[in-house]
Amino acid sequence: MKLILLGAPGAGKGTVAKLLTELDGSVQISTGDILRGAVQAGTELGKEAEAYMKRGDLVPDALIMGIMENRLQEADCQKGFLLDGFPRTIPQAEALKELLVKLGITLDMAVNIEVPRDVILDRLCTRRTCENSDCQAIYNVKSSPSKQEGICDKCGSAIIQRDDETEEAISHRLATYNDKTAPLIGFYEKEGLLKTVTGTSSDTVVRDIKQELGL
Ligand code: ADP
Repeated sequence: MKLILLGAPGAGKGTVAKLLTELDGSVQISTGDILRGAVQAGTELGKEAEAYMKRGDLVPDALIMGIMENRLQEADCQKGFLLDGFPRTIPQAEALKELLVKLGITLDMAVNIEVPRDVILDRLCTRRTCENSDCQAIYNVKSSPSKQEGICDKCGSAIIQRDDETEEAISHRLATYNDKTAPLIGFYEKEGLLKTVTGTSSDTVVRDIKQELGL
């Protein structure tokens, strides 16, 4: 599978990507996870990205393209990949198109996951994330809490609310999505790659994607 997952923050891209990796060994590539890992490790990339992320602003396209050019050439991508949170702007989508031609890679589909805004807002306010940058498991205080409060089931690290998951940063992220990322739906429609799935449950989204790919 070589897929792009589109959708607002909180649409469930990460959860869907994780479920899809279990099907055929494709890897999930989340630029958000990569960036949070870099911030936690205090690398140059992390230092550059941190202020943007905290405000809920997008990190500059050139930084993201540098990350993705390297990431897509790593060996584990050969079985397939699920792009989660990338591309986020038209310039990124155009740069990705060129990069894929250069690497000789053809995409199967860009899946647009559509979820009502009230569901998204509720999810983001109740979402919690494992603070261990190698894990970053996602929980929800209402719908999928960890077994022991505040402790990750998978790795035992602390579970936290992300810095950019305050009400102010969330509404800013959603506005940024509408402004910068939603136009990608038209972009991939023109490319003949778009498939929209509506679903508030990640399981039905995965079922629809499997069906579309004939899996
Ligand atoms: P969500 O999809 O829940 O908003 P992500 O984990 O995908 O969160 O991203 C968190 C933050 O990382 C974004 O708000 C942004 O600052 C930065 N980021 C992630 N991916 C990109 C990207 N492709 N382009 C620019 N900034 C990005």
